[in-house]
Amino acid sequence: MKPVASPTPDTQEWFDRIDVGELTVAHCQNCALRFLYPRMCCPGCGSRAVGLIPVSGRGSVASWVVNHRGPGVFAEEAPYVIALVRLEEGPMLMSNILVEDPNAVSAGLPVRAEFEQRGERRVVQFVPEVGTV
Ligand SMILES: [Zn+2]
Repeated sequence: MKPVASPTPDTQEWFDRIDVGELTVAHCQNCALRFLYPRMCCPGCGSRAVGLIPVSGRGSVASWVVNHRGPGVFAEEAPYVIALVRLEEGPMLMSNILVEDPNAVSAGLPVRAEFEQRGERRVVQFVPEVGTV
């Protein structure tokens, strides 16, 4: 099985909500900054009044690479796309773009989140919006 992330105390709730199919971002109740990765202090103002808010799961490709030599269990899936996705709510996260032709990925490509089951955990992956590739 492909690996899953190991949550830290700061990211445990974020991963737990992914496990039930909900993507969230951290939100500062003091300055309204939305950010990832989740952490107990706002990187904008230092406030500890930080919580998680649900997001749409829609975003676009900010940057990407096509990996032709994946390590371990990823080798059989090569070539595959590793990307930075900018969510429409602002924060970015790194993930895979699940697409038949990796060369179809481009900057600004509209994508949406899907949840891949891996054992007892889920992992956030992205797929192109219908009709974009
Ligand atoms: Zn803040």
